[in-house]
Amino acid sequence: MSKKLFFRTCTVFSSGVGAASLAFWAARSSFYNIDPQAMFASTGTVVTGLAALAGAGCAHAYFAGGDEQASHFDKALRTDNVTGLLSRFGLEKAVEELIKKADSGKSLDCFYLISMDFDELKLINNVYGTEAGNAVLKVLADRLSSLVGDAGPLARTNGSEFVIALKIGHDKRELQAAVEALLDALSKPVRINTTSYPVYANGGIAELKAGDGTLEKVLRHANLARANAKQSGRGSYTIYHPEMSHQASYNQWLESELSYAMQREEFRLAYQPQYDLNSGALTGYEALLRWTHRDKGAISPADFISVAENCGLIQEIGTWVLRRACFDAAHLQPDVKMAVNVSTVQLENPKFIDTLKSILIESRLSATRLELEITESNLIKDHIRMRRLFKELNQMGVAIAIDDFGTGYSNLTNLSELCFDKIKIDKSFVDRLDQNKEKNLMITTIINLGHSLGARVIAEGIENEAQASLLRDAGCNLVQGYYFGKPLSFSEAEALNTNASATEQAA
Ligand code: C2E
Ligand code: CA
Ligand code: CA
Repeated sequence: MSKKLFFRTCTVFSSGVGAASLAFWAARSSFYNIDPQAMFASTGTVVTGLAALAGAGCAHAYFAGGDEQASHFDKALRTDNVTGLLSRFGLEKAVEELIKKADSGKSLDCFYLISMDFDELKLINNVYGTEAGNAVLKVLADRLSSLVGDAGPLARTNGSEFVIALKIGHDKRELQAAVEALLDALSKPVRINTTSYPVYANGGIAELKAGDGTLEKVLRHANLARANAKQSGRGSYTIYHPEMSHQASYNQWLESELSYAMQREEFRLAYQPQYDLNSGALTGYEALLRWTHRDKGAISPADFISVAENCGLIQEIGTWVLRRACFDAAHLQPDVKMAVNVSTVQLENPKFIDTLKSILIESRLSATRLELEITESNLIKDHIRMRRLFKELNQMGVAIAIDDFGTGYSNLTNLSELCFDKIKIDKSFVDRLDQNKEKNLMITTIINLGHSLGARVIAEGIENEAQASLLRDAGCNLVQGYYFGKPLSFSEAEALNTNASATEQAA
């Protein structure tokens, strides 16, 4: 028996009202028809039947009755004029009613607020006009209405954000099935006349409890969960957890402190050495950003880089990193390269190449001594643009290393069209190296792939001799990791460079 069918059977027998409609959503989402008219015809019949079965007419009467008594103005306020659904205000009032009922003795512990949003509205408005955008919203709203029926108040609260307060009769599987059906409805292309508009939604869920007071807090939680879900890709959803609020407020704190960090000169760079695995020669350094906050001490770039990217401060910070690294590299021996991490947000800036050129001129660093580390996952997003940018950097003589290689699922054809010099194997692959050589097929394949694309291969995160020797056997060219050297201050890096160069000359 399929999961959905099992779920339907369970819920129909077990709980009644909400459960029956939800189970129905789960089953029908698998043969959902995107044609709005056909959809209406088919859903209308079954929803009516279900509503009768479940006594959903009571809920309908409740809303309709309320509307009759309300003034015309109040009704307008409660309705979203684009979709005909509830407005945010309307949802607020409906949720207040639910809470009031709960306060007067009825439990509210089975209501969830589900917030859903899709990204494409802005693009549709910009390219096809707001009329097309509104038509898309209307189709999506109709799809949701026919799914939801009277199971709970449904609203368009803002832009492309739809919210429903849903009663879940039984267990979390019902919630799961309902959200999946709702997101499914919001992730099927919308056809209007001859144009098909692709849409993909994400969802966030927060529990609506008696004593929560207003919609505002619960909606904030559901939206936070939705933002978290978005990081896992299209169509995903998550349930709110208090940890998300802690993370969000920590990120907010980071964002406000980051804007002062530059003025307070709290940033510095650490330089981690890179070596030729066969000759043992020092070949270069990777510049790694360090932030020492005046009260909190060291804060990891793994925590603050994404915050800087989201708020745009990465432009200023990234330019500072490039300038500092180039000026420092100019003081090192000429055979040593400097690798600098650059984020996509920096690459998206049309002034990136000009800024880079002027930094190279000011620092008097030859472009051939600079290498930019660009993470693999970023290449997928805008391949055509990346191809142009890589070519330009290539013509300037700046080298490119594909960072975290093997983690971004790049398309091989796309990869082969890009001109880059190095691939950097992610630490996660190095960690999985095994004495049993048969098991190291993955890393050997990556190394061979890199070589066949004409690139040199560097592995990062090497922590012991065994890993180094396995990588050597597999044909890896360069290495970086705590086993060879931890990130150093510039004066330490300079001293290491001078010693290495003296040893080489003596040999
Ligand atoms: P990444 O580019 O993959 O950098 C490698 C990270 O692994 C660094 O962490 C480095 O200190 C650490 N590492 C190196 N060798 C070893 C080892 O043997 N064992 C272990 N456990 N770790 C090792 P870090 O410095 O905390 O940087 C984290 C990430 O932050 C970097 O990952 C990079 O994505 C980002 N980042 C750092 N500096 C910058 C920067 O200036 N600009 C941008 N855009 N991102 C940066
Ligand atoms: Ca890197
Ligand atoms: Ca990495």
